[in-house]
Amino acid sequence: MCDLADPSRGGVCRHRRSFLMAAVASAGTAWLGPSGRAAEETPRASDPYQDPASERPAEKMLGAGREIRITRLETVLVAPRWLFLKVHTDAGITGLGEPIVEGRALTCATAVKELERYLIGQDPRAVTHHWQAMYRHAFYRGGPVLTSAISGIDMALWDIKGKALGVPVYELLGGPTRRRVRVYAHVKTPEDVRNRRAEGFTAFKTGVFTTRPARIVETPGFIAQAADRFAALREAAGDDTDIGIDFHGAISPQTAKVLIKALEPYQPMFIEEPVQCQNVDAMVDIARGTHLPIATGERIFTKWGFREILEKSAASILQPDLCHAGGITEVRLIAGMAEAYYAAIAPHNPLGPISLAAGIQLAASIPNFLCQEQVNLGHGYLKQPFRVQNGYVELPRAPGLGIELDEDALADKIGHDWRNRETYDADDGSVVDW
Ligand SMILES: [Mg+2]
Repeated sequence: MCDLADPSRGGVCRHRRSFLMAAVASAGTAWLGPSGRAAEETPRASDPYQDPASERPAEKMLGAGREIRITRLETVLVAPRWLFLKVHTDAGITGLGEPIVEGRALTCATAVKELERYLIGQDPRAVTHHWQAMYRHAFYRGGPVLTSAISGIDMALWDIKGKALGVPVYELLGGPTRRRVRVYAHVKTPEDVRNRRAEGFTAFKTGVFTTRPARIVETPGFIAQAADRFAALREAAGDDTDIGIDFHGAISPQTAKVLIKALEPYQPMFIEEPVQCQNVDAMVDIARGTHLPIATGERIFTKWGFREILEKSAASILQPDLCHAGGITEVRLIAGMAEAYYAAIAPHNPLGPISLAAGIQLAASIPNFLCQEQVNLGHGYLKQPFRVQNGYVELPRAPGLGIELDEDALADKIGHDWRNRETYDADDGSVVDW
């Protein structure tokens, strides 16, 4: 059964992967006509590089060579749960992005298609202008799907701009602010710590791993189990290693306070999402009750989303996701807001290597960067994966985002139907967070 329309009419069938992939991958041409169409049209009122009333040729206005026009947007589902975007231009430059919110890949692909109508024929180099147009002209602003679509497009436009000018994105943002970028890896067991350390990592993040989901009010046994597991990681890692812990917003405010007290002797690098991020006043209360840094941000979108967090000092480490919060353009502005509150930036990233590349460009252009999350350095996806040495990756030197997809390696990773977990209380069957 198809819950969306047939691709020939502009939609996809959820239950037929190959059909779906063909539909998503060919979105650009199927929906919006031939490549380069708009490049031949009269300059649009929305193009800040073009003044229809001026006699000056575009080359002189740009100061950077010929005109560039967006001709096509191409989205591809990539395993395990990602959505890659290629923004094609008539200059032969292609920009890469990840317009994805986890579990909603097809919805995001459709959101990209809808934004394509605005983007075809535009000069991609007016990145901030296009961000404003895509965000504000939606009228109903923000939310995970729209800002994730804009985020991936924003990455791709920065990639194009850097490639057009022959410099990394961080150079265009006033960088570099550092010589290399610290990254962290996920661990669950002491053995994971030893293995990731052998791979070159010096910073880690774990979760609250217990035998069952947390209840609203927890027992001493539950608290002890969670604290003991963290203590084992601390013992394996030693006292000169950073280990953050993610409550995932799945712990109630009542239990979060007790659990944080039990974790304090082991000094986690940060407590991530101690409660749901919408519960700002509860997060403030928790932050006041511990000396440990509170981190949040993976489910907060745009500068407007982070404003209350900063104003109330609910967290001192912000974790905007470059794939959700508004891309490089917006997260750099969020970093500036955070700097004014002496807060640090540790971008969230459980996604793919394009997201990682965008995060590294951001880290290289801001002063208050702490650490970059990653789950994949690009092996099997990039021609030159990132390399970790002593906890850091070197700054890319290539133009734009500094990466190139390995299309041959990607061939067997096209398509997925990843879904979010469904978790229930084992005793009464009620829905619980994961
Ligand atoms: Mg998290």
